[in-house]
Amino acid sequence: MSLFTPSRRWQPAFYPFKKEKFSLRLLEKTELLVKGPLFGCRMCGNCLLQETAFICCMECPKGLRNGPCGGATPEKCYVDETRKCIWYCIYDKSVRMGREERLMEVLPPLDWDKVGTETWGDVVRQIKKVGTSFFIKGLFKKSLPERREVWESVFRPVRQPDWWKGDSDYHPPGYSEPASELEKKLRNGEFVVTTEIIPPLHADIKRLKENIELVKPHVAAINFTDSSSAFPRMSAFTCCTIAAGMNAEPVLQITARDNTRTGLQSRVIGAENLGIHNILCISGDSPRIGPAPKSSMEILDIDSVQMLWILRRMRDDGIYLDGRQMKHPPKFFLGAAASPFASEPHFQAMREHKKINAGAQFLQTNLVFDPDGLDRWLEQLYKKDILGKVFILVGIAPLRSIKVALHLNQEIPGVTIPEKIINRIERAGDNAHEEGITIALELIDTIRKKQGVNGIHLMTFGCESTVQRIIDDAGLKQQ
Ligand code: SF4
Ligand code: SF4
Repeated sequence: MSLFTPSRRWQPAFYPFKKEKFSLRLLEKTELLVKGPLFGCRMCGNCLLQETAFICCMECPKGLRNGPCGGATPEKCYVDETRKCIWYCIYDKSVRMGREERLMEVLPPLDWDKVGTETWGDVVRQIKKVGTSFFIKGLFKKSLPERREVWESVFRPVRQPDWWKGDSDYHPPGYSEPASELEKKLRNGEFVVTTEIIPPLHADIKRLKENIELVKPHVAAINFTDSSSAFPRMSAFTCCTIAAGMNAEPVLQITARDNTRTGLQSRVIGAENLGIHNILCISGDSPRIGPAPKSSMEILDIDSVQMLWILRRMRDDGIYLDGRQMKHPPKFFLGAAASPFASEPHFQAMREHKKINAGAQFLQTNLVFDPDGLDRWLEQLYKKDILGKVFILVGIAPLRSIKVALHLNQEIPGVTIPEKIINRIERAGDNAHEEGITIALELIDTIRKKQGVNGIHLMTFGCESTVQRIIDDAGLKQQ
């Protein structure tokens, strides 16, 4: 409180700003006193410690509650390089403790009305609801499954409120006819090629339209990035609308970074009327790597898994996150990003598995330069029996120069370029661009034969003129 403005200031996340009964405040303080020193608790109001191997996931700078972002590495967090990726630590510990199946449950976003308040009160209320003696007796039952059932009867409703009801199951799409042309081609077994166009930095759309015209006849769909690297550009939504108006098939990329749960839901309703039928959900690059002055680095309102869960339920169950029924639910084909090389293939496969369970129907991978590494990741997906439940588009980029190759290899989390490829680009000198295209063609030739791969996602970093050449030379002309 200031002497000149005698009221409390607006409190940031994880601190309560509302009036509460003394007993509840006492419980809060006690919870914080216990969990603060033990787990670094900051009172998110919905504790997930049991699901995250007793490491607080709210230590993640993005506040992700369902797994790592695409920038996670075993060494460090890419947002705060002074610390390890907390989600890597959670995966590592969960696997060591044999608790990895607990990571598969789709967990809810924060209820901001509860942020800063205790979780223990909810637990006590739930124990009373199921019966205190039933709970206590249950804890002493002989068989582990029985004990777990009693435990879950209390903790599950606490961590999975009625408005969310997340689980660890796979939910197939609740419709039969394909939602988009891209989905139709994939369902028909076509090996598709998609590409992406980086939206303009200005309001003139002449070049954008030229690029769309250039690639449209050769690809199954065009993805428009959503302010990648946190640099503001023309919105992906505007670009998709323009593309759809030109009879191209757009993929709308939506980042959690620039959307709250309200924004996400409102953005997709009616998008199909503009010809937008494919949606790719990603958490988005942190403003930390964007231009100065830096945008808010506060935790995200939702993560990519939650985005998929919310959108799938809107489409298949016709409900908003708050439970309101929709008269005409939207229809779309849902995708997510995959990162086969960010850490161990097993960990990455767990991350993609959860996205597929939550609603991802296609995965678009980060750049792949190592087909053997891709094999290891695919093998993990196969073991989890999810290869047949998702369409996989493998990210391929023709390297333009040694500078680009080194930048991707050293600066972009999740991208690994084998030394022999770096050497080839270096030796090519002025001819590096041609060599990059040759390498891309070799990669496509190897990767297209792999079981579980359904297409290629070409990323040309603004060099759209190479799209047709690569597709023609690779023998992948679209029907
Ligand atoms: S998950 Fe939430 S309540 Fe649990 S330790 Fe972390 S901040 Fe505290
Ligand atoms: S790398 Fe990503 S997931 Fe890991 S702690 Fe940092 S922001 Fe969170």
